[in-house]
Amino acid sequence: MVQKHKQNHTKKVSTRQCISCRTPLPRTNLIRLTKVSNSSQTKLVVINPNKYQFGRSAYICNSTECINKAIKEKKIAKMLRTPIDNSIIINLQSSLITPLLKEVSA
Ligand SMILES: [Zn+2]
Repeated sequence: MVQKHKQNHTKKVSTRQCISCRTPLPRTNLIRLTKVSNSSQTKLVVINPNKYQFGRSAYICNSTECINKAIKEKKIAKMLRTPIDNSIIINLQSSLITPLLKEVSA
């Protein structure tokens, strides 16, 4: 069995720029915030939405520094052109902490 590999076909990793530090990073390394419209036309901001949820998105590094800077300077609200509810900010901060808590549960 002969396998032909196309050497010139390099897979491009799509990157997005962090709204805080402006570093381009692969999308999988960033926290995604998307403004979605539900059936009742209410705009809501979803953290790490599934692939069926579309809308204007903002990306932030998975770091406390970048998240806090984005919150402090209201970068998310500016990027998504919508006011950010306080519960979103709390969820955003807890979504950062969650991976660390996994080690605690036995
Ligand atoms: Zn960043």
